[in-house]
Amino acid sequence: MKLDELFALLRRRGFLWPSSEIYGGAQGLYDYGPLGVALKRRLEDAWSAWFLGLSDDYYPIQPSELLPEPVVRASGHLENFTDPEALCGHCHHAFRAETVLEKVRPEGVDGLAPSAIAELIAQHHVLCPSCGQAALTVPAPFHLMFGVDFGVTGRERAYLAPETAQGSYLAFARMWDVGRKTLPLGLAVIGRAYRNEIAPRQVLFRMRAFTQAELQIFFDPASFPVPFADVRDERLPLLWAARRAEGATDIEWTSVTDLVAGGLPEFYVYHLAQLFRFLRDALGYPAERIRLFEKSESERAFYNRIQFDAEVRLDSLGGFREVGAVHYRGDYDLGRHSKGSGRDLTVTLTDGRRVLPHVLEITFGVDRNLWALADLHLAVEGERTVFRLPPYLAPIALGVLPLLKKDHGPYARSLLDRLRRAGIAAAYDSSASIGRRYARMDEAGVPFCVTVDGESVDPAGPTRDTVTLRERDSRAQERVAIAEIPARLADRLRPPRPVTAPAEIA
Ligand SMILES: [Zn+2]
Repeated sequence: MKLDELFALLRRRGFLWPSSEIYGGAQGLYDYGPLGVALKRRLEDAWSAWFLGLSDDYYPIQPSELLPEPVVRASGHLENFTDPEALCGHCHHAFRAETVLEKVRPEGVDGLAPSAIAELIAQHHVLCPSCGQAALTVPAPFHLMFGVDFGVTGRERAYLAPETAQGSYLAFARMWDVGRKTLPLGLAVIGRAYRNEIAPRQVLFRMRAFTQAELQIFFDPASFPVPFADVRDERLPLLWAARRAEGATDIEWTSVTDLVAGGLPEFYVYHLAQLFRFLRDALGYPAERIRLFEKSESERAFYNRIQFDAEVRLDSLGGFREVGAVHYRGDYDLGRHSKGSGRDLTVTLTDGRRVLPHVLEITFGVDRNLWALADLHLAVEGERTVFRLPPYLAPIALGVLPLLKKDHGPYARSLLDRLRRAGIAAAYDSSASIGRRYARMDEAGVPFCVTVDGESVDPAGPTRDTVTLRERDSRAQERVAIAEIPARLADRLRPPRPVTAPAEIA
């Protein structure tokens, strides 16, 4: 589906819409409606079930979204979290320099001085994308953080967190004391991040306020054991930086054991494989639409030693887009905060060694993946629009439909109540024909519907307390006893957990 078409559909059904819509919308800000909120929560729950399921030493925390100035000074954001912009002197539109130079410099403009960017623009005669006048200028880099007054004196400054990661680095010392005092120690945050993007675009892909799910794993650089056997048979769709430098864009499916033999650390490959599996097995992204895009040394932030972005090919956005990543950040983060705070963040391990932990970061864009789910699972099939979400992610798990409102409504209402008490996110719909109601449920991604009819309520009949259960994807219908429904759906409504090697209990 095209972007406009998909967004119109999501807006019409109340999944999401532009913030401050009655004022014409605020660029880069979106509101979620009831179905969007429910889908987002389930996606966050799925992420937690998967990534916290990888180890008993990975914990959820919820840090503040406001960071005092000394924190962002130490992290390097105050100095470096900027984006060069290009301004049109004719129509006064602002663009990201990276975007206007996309064709002539695909590797981006990170690290280039404004004068070098201006030179590139002049040299390649880059025209203003908006008005077509060749009058782009390049002022000083534009700061991406939102600064706010902090406290009443007006002297203190704080910043809206540009990423959730900093909260985990700040919490490391406390969590070391709280926990078992062993490495690895993982801290998972699902939280809001804020960036004053120059040119927000592509709906949920470049927003000014968004939700990230990130896992920061602090580990001993000398030893980070992982249950590698769990992923031993996996093959990953890789796009190597070296191959790209030769102009190739083909994906090489490579076994994880070959990756380790080729020199990537086992802990890195294991977590990359788990991110890939989460996208494929939990979110249902087709494997052939996923690629793991290696960032070269010049493309990644200087502190990242290894970086693969997980990208998904989306028709609405015309190609591959980043939805997550695995960054090996070395000791950069705790080193910076040790210096900035004056608190020594090295820890003493059980063997007596003092170590400044390294960080492995797994990022995941919640809004971006919500969009990807819609792009990949919402389809118009002839007359039918159907959102084939994995059942456990569906905002509404079960539709309860009385065939005739008057005759079967009261019974259906009590069934609705009973199913909700059993923990099933059920919704009631009694308006319009049963076909119209199925269509509405399909569009909202509801994986199951039950229809209450004459047989259900017939006091003397043999089919008393049975209903028709309809599956969204196959449209198959089946007569089932009401008492059986919760057990039948339970497995399909639970978020999947990572597969681990055979356990003791069969
Ligand atoms: Zn212009």
